[in-house]
Amino acid sequence: MQHRYDVLVVGAGGAGLMAALYAAKGDVSVACISKLYPTRSHTGAAQGGIGAALGNVAEDHWEWHMYDTIKGGDYLTDQDAAEIFAKDIIEAVYELEHMGLPFSRLPNGKIAQRKFGGHTREFGKAAVERSCYAKDRTGHMILQTLYQQNVKEGTTFFNEFHVLDLIIEGGRCAGVVAYELATGEIHTFHAKAVILAAGGYGRIFKITSNALTLTGDLMSIYYRKGLPLEDMEFYQFHPTGLTKLGILVTEGIRGEGGILRNASGERFMERYAPSLKDLAPRDIVSRSIYTEIREGRGVGPDKDAVNIDLTHLPREVIEGKLSEITDLSRTYLGLDPVKDLVPIQPTAHYAMGGIPTTLDGECLADEHGSVVEGLYAAGEQACVSLHGANRLGTNSLGDLIVFGRRAGVKAAKYAHDADMPDMPADAERQAVAMLDSLKAASGSENAAKIRRELQESMMNNVGIFRNGADMQKQVDILRDLKARYHHVSIQDLGHRHNSELIEALELGFMLDCAEAMTHSALNRTESRGAHDREDFHERDDVNWLKHTFAYKDFDNLGHVKLAYKPVMVQGEAGKYVALSSYTPDEAGRFKFPPKPRTF
Ligand SMILES: Cc1cc2nc3c(=O)[nH]c(=O)nc-3n(C[C@H](O)[C@H](O)[C@H](O)COP(=O)(O)OP(=O)(O)OC[C@H]3O[C@@H](n4cnc5c(N)ncnc54)[C@H](O)[C@@H]3O)c2cc1C
Repeated sequence: MQHRYDVLVVGAGGAGLMAALYAAKGDVSVACISKLYPTRSHTGAAQGGIGAALGNVAEDHWEWHMYDTIKGGDYLTDQDAAEIFAKDIIEAVYELEHMGLPFSRLPNGKIAQRKFGGHTREFGKAAVERSCYAKDRTGHMILQTLYQQNVKEGTTFFNEFHVLDLIIEGGRCAGVVAYELATGEIHTFHAKAVILAAGGYGRIFKITSNALTLTGDLMSIYYRKGLPLEDMEFYQFHPTGLTKLGILVTEGIRGEGGILRNASGERFMERYAPSLKDLAPRDIVSRSIYTEIREGRGVGPDKDAVNIDLTHLPREVIEGKLSEITDLSRTYLGLDPVKDLVPIQPTAHYAMGGIPTTLDGECLADEHGSVVEGLYAAGEQACVSLHGANRLGTNSLGDLIVFGRRAGVKAAKYAHDADMPDMPADAERQAVAMLDSLKAASGSENAAKIRRELQESMMNNVGIFRNGADMQKQVDILRDLKARYHHVSIQDLGHRHNSELIEALELGFMLDCAEAMTHSALNRTESRGAHDREDFHERDDVNWLKHTFAYKDFDNLGHVKLAYKPVMVQGEAGKYVALSSYTPDEAGRFKFPPKPRTF
């Protein structure tokens, strides 16, 4: 079946819905395609909040937020993106409020704000209350609010449609091909502009906070076209997932006063981050927890967790502001945070890297700045690069809102002025071939088994602590898993809700994301943000203050071509410059030069 729209959005999480809403305000026809019902998107799981320097509880300024974002990103953040973000998110939060988002309130009626890791006043002096929240259901409220607004603006939704291919002809995007889950039918969507907002890919790891559907589909589809993925080596492990399950325990729990303790009850973060303690940025807290575990101070039967202690907090706070996570630990662990310590361990959480974009969400075709005409990206699956080497908590929801909106506005403007591109007659060919080959395969391999091996090996070899030997081993493992993937066969050949077929397709996408990540990480011989190497322990600004671009190497299958792109920094008179080489002597030229890490 064929469809035609001016603007097409893939993904109905916070980024997709914000982009669709702003495109729809632009006097063009807009459709949003999602493999899930929109309000089931992972954005709905976000608990902690959305950071904006409103200053409702304590003095705050956008420049402090910008600085924290850059420092938290270990200076890999593009500083022009950080400025736009820190300024625009303030007005965007008020906009969400005016759309009806039910934020928690202070007694004076203003939006309530709480502390969150890495968010500080006066450029790092002390923690500041910056996270705006709706209890611990902020993401849920964002999705509901934006979905309602889209319905009001007339966005058309195609729910439970799985995008399998992007149509790019002569450097211009002409639409997408999707598989309808309920019928097994193939649909071609012809469009002037396409916005990709399909979320992250945490499922490549064994322990993850990410929903089952976060398999990096569109990143992989982009990469399969010979287009680059940026900064894939930077993957954040959230310090606190419920032990063994990975289910997220919000950082808001530490913002409200929760304390991490090791087996002897020690508040060990005092040793690792004397000033911010439990509220240091996530990479620091995750590594500190892992160090405690490795050195034998873990808790639980396998001594592979530490405890979070809330028992000193009032019951109203635990059951009120933290009700969601209180329910989860009562249900899944049989523990009551009001009186029990809750065991947690780091969990794979957030992709800093992804499809490279300009500040307006245009997809980059290479490291020199060429764009794919008519194609945009936003949200976790994009890399603008706001989060650099490590994202601060509450900055993802802000990213969806600020850069989702910019992508929507830009795409609508482009679609308004552009003609409909030509659609090749055989647009469906590649997607149909992919489905047919899986259905026809008679090999002995099983997708679930390969997936399990992928998740375990990525966790062990490209997880929180990395080294060259393990990552080289993982390169070989991935080559082997990819070869075996070609022999996967499925039992269910039906057309209706064929989840076995979809899971096998998603595994193929995950293998690509893991490949781009592992090669990018192996080549970066330094430690920065979430990328921590035991064999290259120091951050190396002189050689590595640059973004990685990973391309599929079609001449040498199973290999990846790597290129690099300068970081944007704020230089003299507030002007942004691309930093092609960094010399510490010139640091004075920059507003926010790289500084050693002390928290
Ligand atoms: C448990 C948890 C808690 C979090 N808490 C916070 C927080 O408090 N604050 C914060 O700032 N960040 C938080 N984050 C991070 C943040 O929530 C996510 O990064 C963000 O919500 C991602 O939004 P998105 O719009 O990019 O993608 P998602 O919300 O993941 O949506 C992806 C969309 O893409 C669609 N899709 C994917 N593949 C396809 C395909 N092939 N075809 C069609 N559709 C497709 C899906 O159906 C879905 O609609 C949290 C993340 C998790 C996992």
